[in-house]
Amino acid sequence: MRITSAEFVKSATRPDHYPEMDLPEIAFAGRSNVGKSTLINVLVNRKHLVKTSSTPGRTQLLNFFNINGKMMFVDLPGYGYAKVPDRVKKDWGKMIETYLSDRPTLKAVVLILDIRRTAQTEEIDFINWLIERRVPVILILTKADKLSKTQQKKQVAVNAAALNLPPETFICFSAKTRLGLDRVWAAINACVKMEEENGA
Ligand code: GDP
Repeated sequence: MRITSAEFVKSATRPDHYPEMDLPEIAFAGRSNVGKSTLINVLVNRKHLVKTSSTPGRTQLLNFFNINGKMMFVDLPGYGYAKVPDRVKKDWGKMIETYLSDRPTLKAVVLILDIRRTAQTEEIDFINWLIERRVPVILILTKADKLSKTQQKKQVAVNAAALNLPPETFICFSAKTRLGLDRVWAAINACVKMEEENGA
């Protein structure tokens, strides 16, 4: 996809701070340090649109970015940072849940997993929660460059089994080699387009 513009719109914690709902939205979720900011920057072909978090769990806001005047990327705060107190974790969860449950313009959630790990209970629960709410999920296994092709295949199989989903559901991605970049864009465009075709 050719990127003509990618601009930060605003940050929000509450619905009354969200931008107007005039564009389809794609949200990005993942554990802190998984490579979420890097993935977004590669997708939009900008080095620093999203600040990569040297301090895990630092970004605690929903950040909205206008892409080509066509869609909005919503960077959700990273989760699973052990050092954060429980109360703060709860507030994050609530903020993310509020956004995901009540945003008609949300077209899909891109969930990013480290290809070297297996999806854990929190991720499995999150994915099932999205599926129950009929929110399309795009599953990315990132940092694929850290593994051989054979190991990548094995990790796809392990995650597919853990989540009870077909292996084709997963997109192996690498910010280093750009592996999977076209597939991620195709999946995003399909979710945005599906809605247009439904007449929304
Ligand atoms: P975030 O906290 O999820 O936004 O994670 P970042 O995007 O800041 O990435 C965390 C670390 O992983 C950084 O040191 C990145 O350079 C590194 N990283 C991200 N994506 C990749 C990738 O595809 N391959 C490799 N080898 N490293 C990556």
